Amino acid sequence: MSTLDSTSLEPTSLATTVPPQVLLNHHLKKLRLPTFVREHEKVAFECAQGEIDYQRYLLRLCELEHIDRERRNIERRIKQAHFPQVKGLDTFDFSAIPSLNKPMVLELARCEWIARKESCIALGNAGTGKTHTALALGLAACQKNHSVMFTTAAALVHELMEARDERRLRLLQKQLVRVELLIIDELGYVPFTAVGAELLFEVFSRRYEQGATLVTSNLPFDEWTSVFGSERLTGALLDRLTHHSHILEMNGESYRLESRKRKK
Ligand code: ADP
Ligand code: MG
Repeated sequence: MSTLDSTSLEPTSLATTVPPQVLLNHHLKKLRLPTFVREHEKVAFECAQGEIDYQRYLLRLCELEHIDRERRNIERRIKQAHFPQVKGLDTFDFSAIPSLNKPMVLELARCEWIARKESCIALGNAGTGKTHTALALGLAACQKNHSVMFTTAAALVHELMEARDERRLRLLQKQLVRVELLIIDELGYVPFTAVGAELLFEVFSRRYEQGATLVTSNLPFDEWTSVFGSERLTGALLDRLTHHSHILEMNGESYRLESRKRKK
């Protein structure tokens, strides 16, 4: 008696009754080779026309599957990052912000700092492209197949408080440590409660030398105490965050304001 259930297609027993096309697609799906499923007939036809041998036929399919898989991985990374918008450095005009160290940004876009689990802090007044730069570095990280999470400081604190109330703070903290690049945008716009500040501090503290963190803020470091409330906490936080860190100085004219002026 066969130990197979009726849905499994075992080559030796069924190859004679099931058309090979159906069997082939079944196995390719099981092996998670969607590009093979989609392309094999077309590529076979092309290879037959061009008198291309079996090995090259297989090689061509493998290459297509590989390219497609990389593309799917990047798309998945981008989706999981929860970027509010997808922006790259290709649309960033460095000449609009002379204070920004362009070579440093380009180096950061190579993502080696992420593997080294360092941090990056972009500081500057409103509208100078901090969020744009953070999004672009996040996108570059996704393209290098790093896991990325984009959030604002206010949203993250809100989420941490909610998780604490629902007794799933440990789980959230674990998820936050695991992600390879955590981007915390807009630190400084909203001051935190004492509990909120402690919870956020714990995120930085746990991620220290465990994962890369990118923070953007409209406040210079000496004003961070006004956001975190406590001088002791701010000191401890800056100590961790500024160790192995890349500082992007982004003070200048607001790009929004400038482009409005240009339009007028
Ligand atoms: P910030 O986060 O510093 O307040 P944003 O990154 O949100 O500033 O920038 C405001 C708007 O201007 C965004 O639409 C952004 O894409 C655009 N922008 C800012 N700086 C530049 C730049 N140097 N080149 C191209 N677009 C820019
Ligand atoms: Mg911003």
